[in-house]
Amino acid sequence: MRSFIESVTSAFQSCTCPSLHHEINMKEILISDEAVYGRMSAFIKEQGFEKTVLVCDENTLKSAGSKVKEILESSGISVSLSLVLPNHHGDAAADEKSLVQVLLETPKDTDVLVAVGSGTLHDIVRFASHQRRIPFISFPTAASVDGFTSAGAPLIVRGEKKTIQCTAPVALFADINVLKEAPPALAAAGFGDMLGKITSLADWKVSRWMANEPYCPTGAALTKEALENCLSHLEDVAAQSEKGLTVLLESLIISGLVMLVLDHSRPASGGEHHLSHYWEMDLLKRDAPQLLHGAKVGVASALLTSIYKRLIEEMKSGQELPDPEKNRKFKLHQQEMAQNYGELPKEKQMQEWLVKVGGPATIEELGITEELLEEALQHAHTIRDRWTGLKMKNQLRLTPQQ
Ligand SMILES: [Zn+2]
Ligand SMILES: [Zn+2]
Repeated sequence: MRSFIESVTSAFQSCTCPSLHHEINMKEILISDEAVYGRMSAFIKEQGFEKTVLVCDENTLKSAGSKVKEILESSGISVSLSLVLPNHHGDAAADEKSLVQVLLETPKDTDVLVAVGSGTLHDIVRFASHQRRIPFISFPTAASVDGFTSAGAPLIVRGEKKTIQCTAPVALFADINVLKEAPPALAAAGFGDMLGKITSLADWKVSRWMANEPYCPTGAALTKEALENCLSHLEDVAAQSEKGLTVLLESLIISGLVMLVLDHSRPASGGEHHLSHYWEMDLLKRDAPQLLHGAKVGVASALLTSIYKRLIEEMKSGQELPDPEKNRKFKLHQQEMAQNYGELPKEKQMQEWLVKVGGPATIEELGITEELLEEALQHAHTIRDRWTGLKMKNQLRLTPQQ
């Protein structure tokens, strides 16, 4: 069987779109059982790395970090530990404190960093790796997010979330038994992040029509295939079985690789991510505990499907966009856009999938108020300069009725 890296690389090689397709510099991706530890040690030696820094938090040290440390040390690799301390909510956060801690605990002669944890831990290590120009290895402990294999690191700087382009790992190793032992809410969030591709892919097409944003049909097809693979294994994903978690992590990895090749997050992030970011910024402002990224994204994507279907009616009602050039494009592609949003699954269907996998399906279950939802629906599209249905909905509103 061909590796992910080879199959994703060859899919992009035959793509004739004008986008730049960046090379994947990752050397190995392996999801396996016990065998993964031996293979990781061998990889580290093959690369000529001698000194490693293992970055974990208290939970991931127990679930996998201790074992990784023991096995690497038994093969003669030097391991020093950087144990990221929790914030006052008891969570690991990719904020200044954690970033400085890991930078300080990475000696000058370190050859490679190893991130053992879920998304946040990876963001911290990704930043340290980028700043210090030391490669890092990804060791995900939960199938919780699609960012493991991408280069963007969402960081919290002075209480605000900023995504910084850093680097992708040189390799990824995952132990399926560790994924199975992870809290079930994490894989449910990973599924929510995948389900979000339903609206992000639809929004990506709209951004191409409305703003000529770079669109790559291969990137869209690979992301869609990864999403469909999760949905066709829904029972396994819901049971969080070996098969289900493997399919889920593979799908998340592919989504990350597509972002890596295209060097932007367009395929994986649309209006649903903007809503999720808006809610996250509100939680940060109020110093409330954070919610899982994918849990927010899944709920946001489900509710957007209804909003996007209603948008089609607004489009048909003769409303216009204030910018004449945008309005021309809007009229030109109106039918395609209506079909694009018309084909989305129903909100209820999306919620049933989320419930089945054990995640929150509504804003009430997430703990987001109606007021905050309304505020996000009106302002979240301003977070990034990208065309989405959410942006169109707000622009159409601004236009005087004929
Ligand atoms: Zn995401
Ligand atoms: Zn392409």
